[in-house]
Amino acid sequence: MKNFLLMFAGLLMINFTLAQEMKPEDTEIWEPEPGIVTPGKENAPPSDATVLFDGSGFSNWEAANGGEAKWNLGNGAMTVQKGAGDIRTKQSFGDCQLHIEWRTPSEVAGDSQGRGNSGIFLQSTYEVQVLDSYNNRTYSNGQAASIYKQHPPLVNACRPPGEWQTYDIFYEAPIFHDDGSLARAAFITVIHNGILVQNHVMLKGHTPYIGLPKYTAHGDLPIRLQDHGNPVSYRNIWIRELK
Ligand code: MG
Repeated sequence: MKNFLLMFAGLLMINFTLAQEMKPEDTEIWEPEPGIVTPGKENAPPSDATVLFDGSGFSNWEAANGGEAKWNLGNGAMTVQKGAGDIRTKQSFGDCQLHIEWRTPSEVAGDSQGRGNSGIFLQSTYEVQVLDSYNNRTYSNGQAASIYKQHPPLVNACRPPGEWQTYDIFYEAPIFHDDGSLARAAFITVIHNGILVQNHVMLKGHTPYIGLPKYTAHGDLPIRLQDHGNPVSYRNIWIRELK
């Protein structure tokens, strides 16, 4: 015991001496210097963002099954045209910060999953649910800002139908081994109308309506927006790739 105490005291002395010998600059990191990015006003894209949709057209989008995006365009927004199918970005993405604004119809129709349903699929595979969850009970892991059938949001931050809402999504893509097996799962953080609703949660795989999530190896893929038959609108979509 005595020996142990002596040894402990000795270690403390060494630590104390090392700390004394160190200068403040020994723990300062100067290089590389973080690049300068000019923030956008309100929700406008910052200077290094790629604008995916600014209301002017579908130049960055196509139908998810190929061909032209056939959703409706107007008043700075695009709106799901029932039956036109999902749309996706022409460009593929991995790790990213995504800002996207959405609005469910002011005229409330349907309930549960049938009211203002759409969705944002990261890498065309992992759905952040878009739904009118204002006074509209559904299963918790299927309400707005859920990771569909995986993670309910921490709270319900929905605005009333007809009002614009924001998602700020921070996404870390899954990593796969050469043989296709999973090396590291995907992680996602979601802020809904300024409120943290998904706090770096781990994705268990894809987000199917029926069945359990699983991973299938992939690389960068487009962002896909869902046509669930309800006229949900989107505007001001921008992305920052995190490489
Ligand atoms: Mg959906």
